[in-house]
Amino acid sequence: METAEPQTRARIEVENVSRLFGQTAALDAVSVRLEKGDFSVLLGPSGCGKSTLLRLIAGLDRQTSGTIRIGGADVGDRSPSARDISMVFQSYALFPHLSVSENILFGLKVRRVDKAERQERLERVAGMMGLMPLLSRKPSELSGGQQQRVALARAVISERPICLMDEPLSNLDAKLRADMRVELRAIQQKLGLTVVYVTHDQIEAMTMADRIIVMNQGRIEQVGTPEDVYARPATTFTAGFIGMPPMNLFPARDLAGSPLLPGDVSHSHLVGLRPEDLFVAESGPEAQLSGIEYLGADRLVSARLGATNFVMRTPASAAPPAARFALGWAAGRQSVFDAATGARLAQFDQLSASTSTTKKDHTHETA
Ligand code: ATP
Repeated sequence: METAEPQTRARIEVENVSRLFGQTAALDAVSVRLEKGDFSVLLGPSGCGKSTLLRLIAGLDRQTSGTIRIGGADVGDRSPSARDISMVFQSYALFPHLSVSENILFGLKVRRVDKAERQERLERVAGMMGLMPLLSRKPSELSGGQQQRVALARAVISERPICLMDEPLSNLDAKLRADMRVELRAIQQKLGLTVVYVTHDQIEAMTMADRIIVMNQGRIEQVGTPEDVYARPATTFTAGFIGMPPMNLFPARDLAGSPLLPGDVSHSHLVGLRPEDLFVAESGPEAQLSGIEYLGADRLVSARLGATNFVMRTPASAAPPAARFALGWAAGRQSVFDAATGARLAQFDQLSASTSTTKKDHTHETA
């Protein structure tokens, strides 16, 4: 019996959920709310608890404590099949002896959906996913990307409002992965699916997510849009995890010589600066060049300031820096963190120092 309102039917609420394996907390008092129609990505390094959280939402595992609600109802006692969800995993788990259409229709047959409706849904979903010409083939006659689409079609045809995915693109080559990201996002938006997607690939997270849930050691570090987690990391962990290369973290005392540092930043704080926000300035703290990587459009400049190694991204059209150069950054773009707790200090957001400094090299700034 379905009692929840349509707008909350696909909402997932995780409240204070822990999962212990012996002494190890795979999840430690995690709380998060995933809204209907959102593409939410669980992102974090290996072992941070992403898959554990997904398996608990799916009902494939049971939490040690805490509550999971789907559509407002506590699903603690419900089996996976009673949770109104579909799932797509890294291994597609297609039946090798069944054709593509039989694979896609398998779940509907088990649920005894009548034949005419099955056919109608098959044509709609297979049409949408470009699978019509492949319906009579066996999985062994498909490419990896085609197999992945079949696995996805099998989830979509169930018309369940929530789809849980665990690294579904990780077996594909880079080109196919890029295509599938676009395709997957388009299908999710078209159908208004609530998707919870596990990955450690931040490109997938940045390109597909409405909301990224950054996890570390069984806890949530930050929940935010891709822009939030990139531009305003809530912790030094997120700052160092998101971005390629990640945000540089300087002890504030090493930047004390810069007119760009807001006056009330304490010397014991950490100042985070993205590689693309750094530049060679007329004056400022002196950095020593250690290497340059040419990437075509950009150069990645490795350098050292005090005891900190950092990376600066400069346009390839700008002259490479000298062996010693003054470091500047885009005014107001710094993130300031408490060095002891790693937490972002929001009072320094968007704050520029009263003085400004100029870039030494303007050659890349075309009018
Ligand atoms: P990955 O990206 O490597 O899959 P993950 O973020 O999905 O990692 P989980 O698989 O959720 O991580 O594991 C979280 C922690 O719980 C890890 O330390 C892992 O070793 C531990 N763990 C997971 N499942 C079990 C289990 N069945 N028994 C014991 N420990 C487990």
